[in-house]
Amino acid sequence: MKKAFHVARTGRPGPVVVDIPKDVSFKKATYSGYPQTVEMRSYNPVKKGHSGQIRKALQLLLSAKRPYIYTGGGVLLANACQELRTLVDMLGYPVTHTLMGLGAYPASDKKYLGMLGMHGTIEANNAMQNCDVLLAVGARFDDRVVGNPKHFMSVERKIIHIDIDPSSISKRVKVDVPIVGDVKDVLTELIAMIKETTAQPDEGALAQWWTQIEAWRSRDCLQFNRHNKEVIKPQYGSIPCST
Ligand SMILES: Cc1cc2nc3c(=O)[nH]c(=O)nc-3n(C[C@H](O)[C@H](O)[C@H](O)COP(=O)(O)OP(=O)(O)OC[C@H]3O[C@@H](n4cnc5c(N)ncnc54)[C@H](O)[C@@H]3O)c2cc1C
Repeated sequence: MKKAFHVARTGRPGPVVVDIPKDVSFKKATYSGYPQTVEMRSYNPVKKGHSGQIRKALQLLLSAKRPYIYTGGGVLLANACQELRTLVDMLGYPVTHTLMGLGAYPASDKKYLGMLGMHGTIEANNAMQNCDVLLAVGARFDDRVVGNPKHFMSVERKIIHIDIDPSSISKRVKVDVPIVGDVKDVLTELIAMIKETTAQPDEGALAQWWTQIEAWRSRDCLQFNRHNKEVIKPQYGSIPCST
């Protein structure tokens, strides 16, 4: 049972099945105490990312013309919202998150493009399609986000993927720089490397990229006519009572 709880709460957390055979559940046994620690040779999630891979990721990020940071539930599970905010502020790159990552980044910040995916904003989805370097942080390229992986991969872009579960990496889309590790540990190391380097993001290219993103954002895709008496739009439910 201790092992079951250990597996459920560490690495990629999730449900664990404990299968107790009938003969065992019928037998009597002497209780010898609950173990203090767990040793499992076959299960040892890696927390610290490979420094060489993190350095490669940084080089790609700094050489990007149209960078994008795609984040997910792994940021919340790693309790790494602060590290994510620091990274985005240092680089000045656009950022989005999945439905499972809601709240991982402040929605009030200009660099946030809204949620992406089938219920996401135009700017968040277009940036995903048109970026040249994608940093995926604790997100698993779900079909509600990338659609058909074949179509998604038909566009040329480099992908860096940080995930604690190696089986999540290159599962749905092939990535160029895999980094197995805990989001908090990996982002902390990435931030430290950015502080050390003298290289900077390409400001000219970044300004052009932001102009393009603002053009998408100006379509204000979530707005609707709230005074239409004929139909009630689903968005109506999300308007605060006072408006
Ligand atoms: C009808 C419908 C519509 C939907 N529409 C949308 C939509 O528009 N947009 C959308 O985003 N979703 C949508 N979803 C939800 C979607 O199916 C996925 O559940 C969601 O996109 C997954 O988010 P995620 O990639 O953050 O995954 P999560 O399930 O949160 O996975 C987290 C990833 O992070 C990794 N991880 C966990 N802990 C750590 C850690 N400590 N360090 C590093 N990595 C870690 C895990 O291994 C995993 O790969 C929809 C679902 C339905 C049913």
